Amino acid sequence: MTGLKDQLGQAVDRLGDELATLSHRIHDHPELGFQEVQASGWLSEFLTAKGFKVERGIAGMDTAFRASIETGDGPTLAILCEYDALPGIGHACGHNVIAAAGAGAGAALAALRGALPRGRVQVIGTPAEEGGGGKVRLIRGGVFEKVDAAMMIHGLDAWIGHPDLLGIMRLVFEFAGKAAHAAMDPWEGVNALDGVIQTFNNVAMLRQQVRPDARIHGIITNGGGAPNIIPESAAATFYVRAPDLDYMWQLVERVEACAHGAAKATGCALETKRLDGHYEPMKRNAALLDTFRANMKILGVEESPPMPGRAGSSDVGNVSQVIPTIQPYVQIAPAGTPIHSRAFEAAAVTPLARDGMLKAAKIMAMTTLDLLAEPALLARAQQEFIASP
Ligand SMILES: [Zn+2]
Ligand SMILES: [Zn+2]
Repeated sequence: MTGLKDQLGQAVDRLGDELATLSHRIHDHPELGFQEVQASGWLSEFLTAKGFKVERGIAGMDTAFRASIETGDGPTLAILCEYDALPGIGHACGHNVIAAAGAGAGAALAALRGALPRGRVQVIGTPAEEGGGGKVRLIRGGVFEKVDAAMMIHGLDAWIGHPDLLGIMRLVFEFAGKAAHAAMDPWEGVNALDGVIQTFNNVAMLRQQVRPDARIHGIITNGGGAPNIIPESAAATFYVRAPDLDYMWQLVERVEACAHGAAKATGCALETKRLDGHYEPMKRNAALLDTFRANMKILGVEESPPMPGRAGSSDVGNVSQVIPTIQPYVQIAPAGTPIHSRAFEAAAVTPLARDGMLKAAKIMAMTTLDLLAEPALLARAQQEFIASP
């Protein structure tokens, strides 16, 4: 096995320049969720050229894909790619690195397909992680039904095997008031923007009373048309996050109550919406994590200490609730670089990001090999999945 692992590492190194080009190309052409036409196209072309059978437009999403190689009857392992960007700040979440690392791991395995234990390797392209919930649709579309375990990596400023993820629900509040001239007839108006601002103030007070690991944050998506018109409509979107779903749903109700109170206070009508497809917390899988960490060690990668209080959310959490799944963090930015920042966007194409991307590709390929080669390991991951809540 050590021999095969060395060969996987060499295969990734041979692909290094090609993978870096792919990563930079995606980075330099940022596309928002469900609009990742170029990124999903480039990844599909790359994987086709490396010998994968690629199905595009799966689970009703044009920019989702499934690339497969098969070496006979055996387990099915999935490596997940993300490639959507953020509005305004491009690839400040580094999904270009996730995409290239996943494609690189797949390509290295494909290069050694003649020597692989029997089974299937799938590289799955998952659109719109940033709020669109592409993986939620892939789950609903049955894409993970015949997959035994899944893995992906995410870039950060440190290597961390298991990041906790918070459950997240997205809420939309639409306030309706009555337009009037803001100077001549303001008493004839009902100010919808005041409803939004009062909601923010109510949430700011609520925030003092929530558990420290919960997060509530929002933006105003419609603040009115012009200062000389009392806004007749205004709207805000809030994200409510918590490490367990019960607490998240409690907070959702309390945030909705903040908006209802604001509507009452300002005399506005209010429509509240819970956006479809909440994200779930990450279920831990020690069997998969231990394997990933053992392969980190082979490459001499040191893990950083856990970072309590610094947790995001992802639809990979939902995948982790249906099959054994891991999403380790890989260092692609200097320590201390905040994610979703312009500095992180710039870091995602540096030599450090290339190094993290290639190491991640090797570790995922080696971990996939371990899972194909040792049925007992996969069985342990699945028993653990069933036994843990
Ligand atoms: Zn992000
Ligand atoms: Zn991300």
